[in-house]
Amino acid sequence: MSRVALVTGGSRGIGAAISTALKDAGYHVAATYAGNDEAAAKFTESTGIKTYKWDVADYDASKAGIAKVEADLGPIEVVVANAGITRDAPFHKMTPDQWHEVINTNLTGVFNTIHPIWPGMRERKFGRVVVISSINGQKGQFAQVNYAATKAGDLGIVKSLAQEGARAGITANAICPGYIATDMVMAVPEKVRESIIAQIPAGRLGEPEDIARAVVFLAADDSSFINGSTITANGAQYLT
Ligand code: NDP
Repeated sequence: MSRVALVTGGSRGIGAAISTALKDAGYHVAATYAGNDEAAAKFTESTGIKTYKWDVADYDASKAGIAKVEADLGPIEVVVANAGITRDAPFHKMTPDQWHEVINTNLTGVFNTIHPIWPGMRERKFGRVVVISSINGQKGQFAQVNYAATKAGDLGIVKSLAQEGARAGITANAICPGYIATDMVMAVPEKVRESIIAQIPAGRLGEPEDIARAVVFLAADDSSFINGSTITANGAQYLT
């Protein structure tokens, strides 16, 4: 049996590694993105994974996009809410727009992604939900009040869904990556990046594949008793 998996923000960075690892594990994968058509086209060309464009912050667009994926591939049985953004600023300089943009994408976007898929999972008595949170949702971070709030909120979503879905064969788990070498982190000034690496006992940034492996593990049929967990993958930078 080949299950259908949806990965939001699945065309670049950590999401691209997740989409690819799920495909390699035998899933039919749909990867979404926000607007970078060129990266999405390149990703599809190199992997054969179909991409879909919608804004996860928009509920109606998410619902319509998910319906299209299900019409193309069949019912979604694994959903990975990975799409996320940063709009960093120290709190005294953070604008309401920076706050709302991050909340709408990283927190409401997770609701918008899972909510239209959830009833089908309940009916079919099977589902795997994985949310990509962050080390900074666990420990907070200077200039990331908005981002840390969303990533901590994502852990609350997962822990609640785990309890609601358990009897229906649905698990919900979170992964908290540490600093991973993607565009998001490479956009940070080199000096700051070096100071980040100095705080990681592993002595390196993580690779997107480090996170993808954990997703494949959580998505498996026989991971059914792992529910409501947070997997920390940060090279021992922060231990809860
Ligand atoms: P990237 O910036 O490399 O890629 C982000 C992906 O999300 C892209 O595919 C992008 O689409 C998509 N995306 C962004 N906003 C939206 C939106 N509103 N609607 C739909 N898709 C959207 O990010 P990373 O791979 O670095 O991060 C992935 C996840 O991992 C995020 O949730 C992030 O917070 C989390 N994370 C990352 C860490 C890191 O060190 N990199 C550490 C901890 C957590 P498009 O290509 O069109 O822009």
